[in-house]
Amino acid sequence: MADKTIILKGRLIDGNGGTPIENSAVIIEGNKIKTVCPASECPEIPGAIIYESENGSILPGLIDSHVHMSWCGAKAIEWITSTPQMAMAYALKDLATVRKSGYTSVRDMGSDAIFFKEPAKAGLIDIPRIFGAGKILTQIGGHGDAYQKLSLEASMHTYSPAVIVNGVDEVRRACRVNARNGADFIKIMTTGGVFSLGDTAAPHSHFSQDEIRAAVEEAENMGTYVAAHAQANRGIRMALKNGVKSIEHGFYLDDECVEIMVKNDCYLVPTLSIMHTSKTYFENKEGVLEYLKEKTNAAYEAHYKSLELARKAGVKIAMGCDFLSDPEFGCSYDKSTMEFERMKYAGFTPLEIITMATKRGAELMLASDKLGTVEEGKIADVIYVKGNPAEDILLMCNEQNVGLVLQDGRVVKDIL
Ligand SMILES: [Zn+2]
Repeated sequence: MADKTIILKGRLIDGNGGTPIENSAVIIEGNKIKTVCPASECPEIPGAIIYESENGSILPGLIDSHVHMSWCGAKAIEWITSTPQMAMAYALKDLATVRKSGYTSVRDMGSDAIFFKEPAKAGLIDIPRIFGAGKILTQIGGHGDAYQKLSLEASMHTYSPAVIVNGVDEVRRACRVNARNGADFIKIMTTGGVFSLGDTAAPHSHFSQDEIRAAVEEAENMGTYVAAHAQANRGIRMALKNGVKSIEHGFYLDDECVEIMVKNDCYLVPTLSIMHTSKTYFENKEGVLEYLKEKTNAAYEAHYKSLELARKAGVKIAMGCDFLSDPEFGCSYDKSTMEFERMKYAGFTPLEIITMATKRGAELMLASDKLGTVEEGKIADVIYVKGNPAEDILLMCNEQNVGLVLQDGRVVKDIL
């Protein structure tokens, strides 16, 4: 924990979505934000380190609400031929990379990254905060049964970010194993995916309602919630009707879905970036199977319509890139801020986007009392951006513009 007082002076964009406040001061003592006040009222504090620059902006530390740290590439064959050691090495590299862009927390949507929480707490490694799902629950032949050229028996025994479960008892067991390993929430897959052989837009969905409800009950017993990888309409609806709190991707929402989401205070994490990189990759790559291109293009269009429907209905939206650590595919974590650009393309204002990338993420981490906004009493996860992202959100896409990153009151990046 830092013991020095740090003072940031500049434009305050606090994450709540209100008008930025020019000439503000944020006083940080130890790991907490002690005072937020006009710079003119900032007291002289002997020994305090002051950061200020012309046109600088103070923001909450960013939260990527959909990552897969410890994932070794975009192709299913890479998932199943990897080793835990290789996956961990990827994770450490990627965690360091995202923090340079200002991410002080990540919501890990399925991997072994939860095992980093203890070493981080013990001071052995210095990484962004992790709020993680552990192993993703998938059904036989589901999106997490990733490489279906293998026999089921082999698929169940490969190293994978997912666990294949069948029936209520196995769902409960997998949830409890995740809880035992320190998972913060449960992730299930209630539809196929763009890369899997089942059709994303098809009316089928994965897991019975009993299985979904069992996961929800187990999650609630852990004091947390279930997030669902859900792309096709029926799988989204089944998830929502059975108590799932966050829909990841959500390509084919309809009026009924968004109505339930608003009523039950559910979240949408659209993950536009992974779809954008997929589309770009498939368009430019020779020999890609036609069905993959068609499915990606259809889903790409539907995705933005779905997001617009959610936006109009007032669904809470958080931001995540869903990258898979693969430079060739275009989804390496040095590009994780692509989601800012994609959200702008989708029509959101800079302040809306900043709230999605901060406050909404903290809500999904069940930590909105501690993180996600720059307010007195909160933990000092704060970044200092060169320029005004409330006017030009694309500033966030270049890590050189993130001059300072504080996590838990400690300076973890300083290029101011
Ligand atoms: Zn994902």
